[in-house]
Amino acid sequence: MTKSAPNPMALLAQIDMDALGRLSQKVDLPALLNAASSMSDGQLKQLSRMLAGGQEDKHRALPEANGDFFGQMDTLTDEERAVALTTRQFMHEHVAPIMNEYWSRDEFPKQLIPELRKLDLLRKIWNEDGTRKPNATVVEGLVTLEACKVDVSTAVFFGVHAGLAFASIALGGSDEQKAEWLPKMMDLEAVGAFGLTEPEGGSQVSQGMRTTCKRDGDSWTLRGQKKWIGNSTFSDLTVIWARDVDTQEVRGFIVRAGTPGYRVEKIGGKIALRIVENGLITLDDCRVPDSDRLQNVQGWRTTAEVLRLTRAGVAWQGVGCAMGAYELAVNYSQEREQFGKRIGEFQLIQNHLVHMLGNVTSMFALCLRLSHMADSGTMKDEHAALAKVFTAARCRETVALARETFGGNGILLENGVAKHFADTEAIYSYEGTNEINTLVVGRAITGLSAFV
Ligand SMILES: Cc1cc2nc3c(=O)[nH]c(=O)nc-3n(C[C@H](O)[C@H](O)[C@H](O)COP(=O)(O)OP(=O)(O)OC[C@H]3O[C@@H](n4cnc5c(N)ncnc54)[C@H](O)[C@@H]3O)c2cc1C
Repeated sequence: MTKSAPNPMALLAQIDMDALGRLSQKVDLPALLNAASSMSDGQLKQLSRMLAGGQEDKHRALPEANGDFFGQMDTLTDEERAVALTTRQFMHEHVAPIMNEYWSRDEFPKQLIPELRKLDLLRKIWNEDGTRKPNATVVEGLVTLEACKVDVSTAVFFGVHAGLAFASIALGGSDEQKAEWLPKMMDLEAVGAFGLTEPEGGSQVSQGMRTTCKRDGDSWTLRGQKKWIGNSTFSDLTVIWARDVDTQEVRGFIVRAGTPGYRVEKIGGKIALRIVENGLITLDDCRVPDSDRLQNVQGWRTTAEVLRLTRAGVAWQGVGCAMGAYELAVNYSQEREQFGKRIGEFQLIQNHLVHMLGNVTSMFALCLRLSHMADSGTMKDEHAALAKVFTAARCRETVALARETFGGNGILLENGVAKHFADTEAIYSYEGTNEINTLVVGRAITGLSAFV
């Protein structure tokens, strides 16, 4: 039996004329009807499916963006998950609303420090005596992950203070030095910085350190420059690494803010991590008492131990940054429409999203394993180096795809993804560049060193 054609008068009688009037203010109805009248049967069917489907889909709840696709958070302890959630809440409440303003101002929002203090995060990682909690690296990693999903700079502020500076005193300080500084640093009453890199020596700093120290009675004289030192523009103490002119050994010093001969200039014009304040430190016959020399430093070995601990944290930065960008891209793909469809309906966009999710998932799994190895004492330099190489590279790829998903809007600060895109460039280069960490892994797997 053939279906009879609908009666045009009956169809017209069903139309809501008020709604049609409102529609005609937005759409050129005569032109639309004209176009429809010249469509083929196939085109008309496609149009009617689109209209019907569009109505249906718009009311259907879409899945929430979730970078933890394999439920890796579920493998954590309740305490670890709680730290992650506390950090997440802090980032959304206190950092997200102001981060773009501070990014534009090239400035760290110091008002975050008392708010961060309330979370008491350092005591979830360190004991008062400078030893680490049994799951310290996992917890540190989760704090980094959650912070970086929103803002990498905030994670860097925390990582420099609670990782590099704190670890230098915890590993290299005497009992008296630990007793003086660690409780204050845990409470964020004293903010720390870590000065190793020099204008002429980044990758080669272990071999070519130019900053010198010379003993003179009960004190030491420091000379030289340190570049890129995060937090140093407002830190209460900066750990400075210098080569002893008499013994050629590397020594560490706690240099207090305001010490004569110690000067910091803020490095301006950065295109990444603009919320972190990086300084160029000049030590111009800066005198430091011997009591502020880190008493238990065993030359470069101690510096390398600090870096090994913190390299895992930088690998986690890549995970968080990529996951944040991925989730932003999913949200955008569910909202942004082109050609009458949400862009998430396009196969090529889904391909981007799936590629990003694969990266994020593998990075997350790798870093969890790395942190468990660090906490159980089985992590070696090459493990941290491989994680850093892998996550930094995958992060770079992921944030680029996320930015691409936003089209032109991807370069606007207000849409979030641009900041992740830019910050990745710093992740890629610090705590051992991609090349240097590759050489560390290459040496371990071949037994042959390619270092020059
Ligand atoms: C935003 C930011 C924050 C930072 N914060 C701190 C901080 O708080 N404290 C601190 O001490 N430092 C900090 N750094 C410094 C950082 O650790 C160095 O930038 C990093 O070690 C690289 O050194 P470099 O920039 O001098 O590059 P270089 O060492 O000059 O390297 C330049 C290029 O040459 C390559 N290269 C060098 N040697 C070799 C080799 N043997 N084989 C192959 N390739 C090689 C590198 O991989 C790189 O691609 C920070 C850096 C940045 C960008």
